Amino acid sequence: MGSLLAALLELQSVESQLRQVRDRRRRRTRAAKVQQRAIEELRQSERQLQETLAQRQRQADSAALDVKAAEERISHFRSALNTAKTNKEYASILTQLNTVKADNAKREEEALQLMQNVEEATGELTELRQRIESEQSRLQDIETANAQEVEKLDGMIAELQERHDAAAENVPDTERRLFKRIADNYDGEAMAVVEQHGKKPPYEFVCGGCFMSINAEHVNALKVRDEVRRCDSCGRILYLESQTQSAPSET
Ligand SMILES: [Zn+2]
Repeated sequence: MGSLLAALLELQSVESQLRQVRDRRRRRTRAAKVQQRAIEELRQSERQLQETLAQRQRQADSAALDVKAAEERISHFRSALNTAKTNKEYASILTQLNTVKADNAKREEEALQLMQNVEEATGELTELRQRIESEQSRLQDIETANAQEVEKLDGMIAELQERHDAAAENVPDTERRLFKRIADNYDGEAMAVVEQHGKKPPYEFVCGGCFMSINAEHVNALKVRDEVRRCDSCGRILYLESQTQSAPSET
């Protein structure tokens, strides 16, 4: 196999690995960002719930004060009953006492409901804070694991970048630029193997990148010449399966 296609295949191999590792690094750091956003949303809910709780607390406090004031009036009427001088006065005080008592029964019920609202919000807030705490510790786990993994991936990227530079030096400028352009279009996949279909001649040849038919002329040329031949459909640089066997082995 010719040196140009061999050099391009080596470059292709390192290019793919480099992109994969960079992808892994991106996914790694993304997980922490997603988790940070989730926590920020929970904190937002916490602030809203705190406001709700404060509002409910104020309502409950004010209802409790009303109940207390009514109780004072009831006890005032009770002592007035004891000092009533006539039956008529007694009956009048008793009527007022019963009215206040009836009103206060309703008020007490409302105050109780408001207290329950406070307790409910307090419970929700406690639960939410526990959840924030556990999500926070999950974030820490992710970040700790990330730190090790990202460091490892950075090392791999640096090493692959060196190999990439070395492999690129073996490819002439024009082909190197072409390779880069195609690689950027196809997520690093600048080259495509020629697939041979059929058991006996005439074989059908298909591009391993886009699966469209390939003119046999390309295949015949590749068998004898070391040159860049591109798929007429997708533009990837073509190579034959047999050419990979003589390509430099990966280390
Ligand atoms: Zn193609």
